[in-house]
Amino acid sequence: MSGLYARESQSISRMAHLRFFPQAVVGGRGAYLTGDDGRQVLDFSASWGSASLGHSHPAICAAVNRALSDQAGASYLSSANEPCVLLAEKLLSLGPERASGRVWFGHSGSDANETVARMVTAATGRPRILAFEGAYHGGTVGSMAVSGHPAQQGARAAGLTLVPYPNSYAAGSAEAARDATLSHLERLFATEFAPDEVAAFFIEPIQSDGGMLVPPDGFFQAVEALCRKHGILLVSDEVKVGIGRSGRFHAYEHSGIEPDIVVFGKGLGGGLPISAVVGPEALMNHAAAFSLQTVHGNPVCAAAALAVLETIERERLAENATRTGGILRAALDRLASRHALIGDVRGHGLALGVELVSDAASRAPAAREAALTVYRAFELGLVLYYVGVRSNVLEFTPPLTVTAEEAEKGVAILDQALTDVRDGKIGEDVLCGFAGW
Ligand SMILES: *Cc1c(COP(=O)(O)O)cnc(C)c1O
Repeated sequence: MSGLYARESQSISRMAHLRFFPQAVVGGRGAYLTGDDGRQVLDFSASWGSASLGHSHPAICAAVNRALSDQAGASYLSSANEPCVLLAEKLLSLGPERASGRVWFGHSGSDANETVARMVTAATGRPRILAFEGAYHGGTVGSMAVSGHPAQQGARAAGLTLVPYPNSYAAGSAEAARDATLSHLERLFATEFAPDEVAAFFIEPIQSDGGMLVPPDGFFQAVEALCRKHGILLVSDEVKVGIGRSGRFHAYEHSGIEPDIVVFGKGLGGGLPISAVVGPEALMNHAAAFSLQTVHGNPVCAAAALAVLETIERERLAENATRTGGILRAALDRLASRHALIGDVRGHGLALGVELVSDAASRAPAAREAALTVYRAFELGLVLYYVGVRSNVLEFTPPLTVTAEEAEKGVAILDQALTDVRDGKIGEDVLCGFAGW
C-alpha cells in the first residue's frame, strides 16, 4: 500500500469512500492516471464517467484558466454570468423540443434530481413519483428519496413507488422482461393508486449503477405512451450515460422517446462539479429562490462544461463512443467466449457492463469474483469498478477520448485478471477494507 493511501486514513473520513483497491493518485493525462508510486494505470472508470474528456484535456484547461483569470463572480444566485448563459443556450439547442424551456444549474446529479423531485410535485400538485428498483438518482436525502438502489441507507419518499427495471438477461429474453414490467405498471394503476396522482416517472435510459441494464426494444416507448395518457412527466436521468457516452448525445435517443425533463451531471463538467436540469418554462420557472446553493452557477465550472460540449462536437466524441465502444464491446465478447465467469456483455457506446456469474445456467451472481477481478486488474494496471444490485457487474465508462489501442490494452489486462481469479491466484484477504458496494 502506498504512503499516500495509508496517510489518508489518518486525516480523511470514510463516509464518502467507495473503495475497491488502494489507489492513490497524483496526476493524470488522457486515459491514464499516475499513482504516487509512479505507476501509470489505464482508467476505464474516469471517476464514474465524470472525467468525460479524460484527464487534463487542453480544452478544459484553457477554458478554466480563462474563466479564473477574470472571474465573473462565483455564483449565479444574485447575478447573471456569461459562461452560465452560454452553457444554458447551448444545452437548450441540443433538445429535446419538449424540454427546451429553461435550464437550472447545480453541483451534482444528486442536487439536480432532488430539485426535480421537489419541483414536479410542487408544480403539479400531484404527490406521487415513480422510479425503478435499482435506480441511483443521488446521495442526498431528497435524491435518495426517489432512488431504488439497495446499497443506499437513506429513506424513500412517502409518495415513491418503485417498479422493476426490465432485466433481459435475468428474465431470459427482452420480451419477457419488457412485458413483466409493463403489466406490473398497469396493475399498479388499476389497483394501487390512480395514475393522475403521479407527478413524474424518473427513468435511467440505461440503468448504470443497478447493473448497466439496457432496456428492451419498445419498452420506454410504451412507458412514454402511458405517461402521456395520464399526464405524468417523464424525467430522463442522463447523469452517467448522457452527453455522448452512449454514442448519441442523449442516451434516451436509443429508445426513440422524448422526455419532458432531462438531468445532466458527472461528465458535463469534464471533472469539475456541475449539473443541469433542462425542462419546460412553466415548470422550470415554478418559483424563485426555490432550490439554491451558494456557488450554484459557478462561472468556472460552467466554462468547463461549455468546453466539454464544444469538444464533444468538434472532436466527434459521440461518434468515437460508438466506434471505440464497438471495438471494446467486440473484445469483451471475445473474452466472454473464453471465460465461464462472464454471463453477459451489454451496453451502448462507451457505457458497457460485464455481468459475472458463477453458473451460466442459474446466472448466480459472482460478487466475490467481481471484487477480486477489479482488485487484480488494478494491480495489473487497469482501473475498473463494479456496479449492480448484486454487486457483480463490471462497469466500463472510460473517457470519451479513449483510443482503440487503449481499449484493446484494457481488455488484455482484464483477460489476465479473470484468468488469475479463476486459477485461485488471488487470496480473499486482499479484499479486507475494500468492501465496495
Ligand atoms: C452518479 C449518479 C447520480 C448522482 O450524481 P452525483 O454527482 O453523485 O450527485 C444520479 N444519477 C445517476 C444516473 C448517476 O449515475
